[in-house]
Formats: sequence, structure tokens, C-alpha cells
Amino acid sequence: MKNLLFALSLLVLLSKGYGQTYVPSYATVVDQVSESNILTNLTEFENLGVKRRGTAALQNTLDWLKAEYLSYGYTASQLQEYSFTNGSTTCKNLVVTKVGTLYPNTYVIICGHYDTITGKGTNDNGSGVVTIFEVARLLQNIPTEYSIKFINFSGEEDGLVGSQNFVSTVVNATNPKMDIKLVFNIDEVGGRADMTNDTITCERDTGSPTTNNAASNVITNELIACTQLYSPLNTHLSYAYASDYMPFEDNNEVITGFFEKNQTPHRHTSTDLLVNMDPVYVYNIAKAATGAMLHFTVASTSTLASNEFNNDYQVSFYPSPVKDVLHINLGTLTDTRYSFSMVDLQGKVVFNTQVDNANLIEPIAIGGLSKGMYLAVLETSNKRIAKKIIVE
Ligand SMILES: [Zn+2]
Repeated sequence: MKNLLFALSLLVLLSKGYGQTYVPSYATVVDQVSESNILTNLTEFENLGVKRRGTAALQNTLDWLKAEYLSYGYTASQLQEYSFTNGSTTCKNLVVTKVGTLYPNTYVIICGHYDTITGKGTNDNGSGVVTIFEVARLLQNIPTEYSIKFINFSGEEDGLVGSQNFVSTVVNATNPKMDIKLVFNIDEVGGRADMTNDTITCERDTGSPTTNNAASNVITNELIACTQLYSPLNTHLSYAYASDYMPFEDNNEVITGFFEKNQTPHRHTSTDLLVNMDPVYVYNIAKAATGAMLHFTVASTSTLASNEFNNDYQVSFYPSPVKDVLHINLGTLTDTRYSFSMVDLQGKVVFNTQVDNANLIEPIAIGGLSKGMYLAVLETSNKRIAKKIIVE
């Protein structure tokens, strides 16, 4: 009902020159945001530890990010790492690029940091990381008119070092300068376990330079409209500050952002943990972000391909970590002939076998692979299912 009322009020907004109407096929995509993915990914992020510069935990988190994007069907050639100096250490931003159909050289950037300080940072900013994952997963197979860069920044907690480096050494060093339609930053959207979380703060640019402020206002109004059209959340309009969109703002780009309305008291402490936040709120944030990105990138309104691609047919690979024998459970797949591969984080196939007359559960001897994170990939004549597996 709220959406219907909002759709009606949108007609009023339209007459004022704002934005957009409800697109049923976008809602079909948004409906595929997965609450269990959000919970699983928040748990995995938390288990990776304190992601401070120079730590193994930060590097392991980068590997985990890469494996996740590869599992959605992005190829290794779409993943780029940009190293930068952060204090006495080297940190890396991860950028995943999807090329647009009509404006391949104009980018919609969705970003958030993956480094943490003092604590494991499940809210700040695991919540942003898992939100971007769901957007990336659902848009992977949908043509968009604009190109997209999904960016996981490091060095945010050290003073926006990663995003500053990206703007100066990538955005401005590209010839001609990288053309950015807008930057949508997502930071700390986990909510509070002890409160009702039904409102998201939408942030617009009110700072200097002021030449980009009007455009930020327009985009933020579109973000508000999308949030109300595609999620159950209410919106609160505020201003942008102190996160990775600011170096873009200083560079005169058009920015907008999401930040939790109920602010956590656990930020930058050892108790920034899943138990203190609200994963259902993150699930709703992911719906809003997916709807907004479909709108910002002018996604195709045909969703047939994404429905097929994003179904995993409840296929599972276990155990993980695995040592010698990995088991494949076909779930609801009825194919009895498939190929199975293990792919490393560089996209190289390091193991491959063909299974004919497959049983529901098939043991596969994969002994001899070196330790690390891989993708287990099952392919039939018309389906591809990939999941992260750790080999120990
Ligand atoms: Zn943060």
C-alpha cells in the first residue's frame, strides 16, 4: 500500500521534474535480493577479523571479495586491483567494471570501503560490502546503458586514503579524464539491534565546490524515490561527509550516499559485530540500492536472463575448507551430465573433470591443489553455478 500511495505521489513529483516511475521488471530483479546471502556474507566478513592496514586479514578479505565477484560470473579480466601506499604499508582498492551498452565510457560508480579499524567492522563497513555484492550479483547479467564500476576501497579508516588515491591516479590520470555520471557510496548501513530500523539517510552534497551540488540534489532525490519504490524503507535527507565519496566531491563529481539513520554506538570498536546490528535492515538497504542502480544505469527492462542466471538450483559443494575429496550435491538440478572445474583467483582453471550419469551426490577427488581460495564451478549445457571453496 505504501508503494501504491508513493506511486501516486510520484505523479506529483514527476510534474515537478523529478525522476522516475515504478518499473515492474526492476521490482522483479529487486525481489531476488537474498536475505540469506546477506546473512552469510556478513558472517563471513566478520569471521575474516580486524581488517587493519598491513594485516593478513585485510589481504584475506581482498581475496574473499574477488572470489565473490567471480562466483557471480564476472571474469578475472573485469577485476582490477590498484595498489597505493598507506602509511608504511601497501593497500589495494578492488574495482570491478561492467561495460555499458550505450555509454561505455561513462561510469556509474557504486562504492564502499572494506577496511576496518579496531574491530571486525561488520556494520562499518561489512554492511556496505554485502549490499554492493547483492547489486553486483543481480546486475551481472543485465545489460545497462551506462558502464558500472563496483569499487571496494581500502584505507578509508586512515583518512579516505584509498578513494583519494583512486581519484588522483585513476580518475584524473585517465586520458581523457574518466567520465563519471555519479558516485553512490554506501557506508555503515547495519542499523541497531536494540532499535526499530525503518529509515535510511540519503546524503547529498552541500559542500564546496558548489558547482556540483544541484546535480547531487537531483540524483539524491532519485535515490529517495527508488528507495521508496523498491524497498519498505522510509528516507531521511541529509548531507554527505567523512566517507569515500568526498574525494570525488572535491573533484567536482556528482555524489550521493546511504548511511544508517539509527547510528551505531559500536563504530570503530571491538563490538562492531553482527549481534549488535540488524541484518534485515541491510536486506532492505540492498533492495533499495539494487532498485536505484537499475535506475541510475538505465538497465534493460527484460529480466529473463537474470532469472535464469541467478538461480543456483540449491547446488552445494562441501566440505569447505576441503582437503582431498569435494562432494557435489546437485540440489534440484535434473541434469545428469556436467563439467566440474576448480578456478583460482586469477581465473585460471586448475582442475577439470567431466561427470556423466551423475548421482545426486558425487565425490570428486581434487587432491594436490595448493592452499587458498578457489571457485568451484559446475557447468551443464545451459547453466553455470559457481561457489567459493577454501582448499587447505
Ligand atoms: Zn565506514
